[in-house]
Amino acid sequence: MKIRQLRRWAIGLVAGLAAVGAQARPNAEPVKTDPGNATIVLTGGNVVGIDGEGAIRDAVVVIHGDKIVAVGPAGSVTVPQEARIVPMDGKWLIPGLMNMHVHLGLKLPGAEGAALASETDPELALRMAANARKSLLSGVTTVRLVGESHGVDFALRRAIQRGEVIGPRIKTAGEIIVPTGGHGSLETDGPYGFAHAAREQIKQGADWIKIAISGGIADTHGSIAAAPMTDEELSTLIEVAHRNGIPVTAHNGSPAAAEQSLRLGIDCFEHGYYLTEANLKEMKAKGKWLVPTIVVSQAGAREFYKKIGSPEWYLERVDSTGQEHWKMLQTAIRMGVNIALGTDQFPYEPNGGTTATVAEAELYNKAGMTPLQALRAGTVETARLLRIEDQVGRIKPGLYADIVAVEADPTADISALRTIDFVMKNGVIYRDDAHGVMAD
Ligand SMILES: [Zn+2]
Repeated sequence: MKIRQLRRWAIGLVAGLAAVGAQARPNAEPVKTDPGNATIVLTGGNVVGIDGEGAIRDAVVVIHGDKIVAVGPAGSVTVPQEARIVPMDGKWLIPGLMNMHVHLGLKLPGAEGAALASETDPELALRMAANARKSLLSGVTTVRLVGESHGVDFALRRAIQRGEVIGPRIKTAGEIIVPTGGHGSLETDGPYGFAHAAREQIKQGADWIKIAISGGIADTHGSIAAAPMTDEELSTLIEVAHRNGIPVTAHNGSPAAAEQSLRLGIDCFEHGYYLTEANLKEMKAKGKWLVPTIVVSQAGAREFYKKIGSPEWYLERVDSTGQEHWKMLQTAIRMGVNIALGTDQFPYEPNGGTTATVAEAELYNKAGMTPLQALRAGTVETARLLRIEDQVGRIKPGLYADIVAVEADPTADISALRTIDFVMKNGVIYRDDAHGVMAD
């Protein structure tokens, strides 16, 4: 142990000096966002057994272009001659983390939100780009955006795909479609209104449709427990989305709205604050999804809301909702409902001494998941929710090279995720603290 620490210290020192050297060089090479035909080989790390098959110790992971081409113990995998070798020095390699409830343009009630009240779209675009970069560097390689505005999310997704902006892989639901007075920005009424709004989002490139079928913690009117949409509105919207091959998720805290929308074929719920055992039982039976965003209602959130200057009434609502939310999550885990990790805070937002994404995984573990289940909730399960298991979510040949490294085995202790210091997306290393790499 001592020797390993000493070795790490020495490597850190060399990396530190290299980083200083890089800063001193005016023409230091920036991180290229296109992996081209390069071959990178990660050596000397341990690949976590994400399907419970046990870890690969002293692993070799070969990446060609943006894909993983080989994974195995040292000696069993041929290392191509032209490859760039990146030593992982005993670190643990996990699939890139995925966060399924993100608003890169998030504004909340309070002083910080008020300061953004007159934000223009160009300002919003730049702020979202900065948030995308920070999200990626925190270890989150894929996000699902569930409510942005004015089409900036579609523009940002294109800019990231073109390599103009650094950020995670984006799946987006566009704007939140709601009945007048609902918890979202795109208001409409009647079945035709909802059909039109859904088709508009799909036309712009939405991968999901997001609606709000109940109120939220931040609302000053209406009840979280109400179900304000009519059957006709909800069923028309779901039918239109499904006919286009697009799934529908709903902001929902209401048992009545859950019962109604499950009957009409909804795919996923966000938050689920007050869902009952009967709701969860039906979700389990139908294979529906829950994205808990438990971090928004627990102790770490209070600290955060205070920091951003949220009013006292809001903090009180967070506390009372939090207790029910926690019980609901414990029940959902016990019943084996499909759970995909999402935070409703920026993926990198400080929360409980780590990031919101990692805090969310730790809370799943505390609420009843094993560390492996908590890790899967943010990798394998999220890929399954997005229906892209054939592309991401595992460190496996044929998949995109989205790989994060941590200091210890997160399937033994989920808090190992607090030590993320290496981030690769699509075969490009955006962050490698040990070797002084940090994309700017
Ligand atoms: Zn949200």
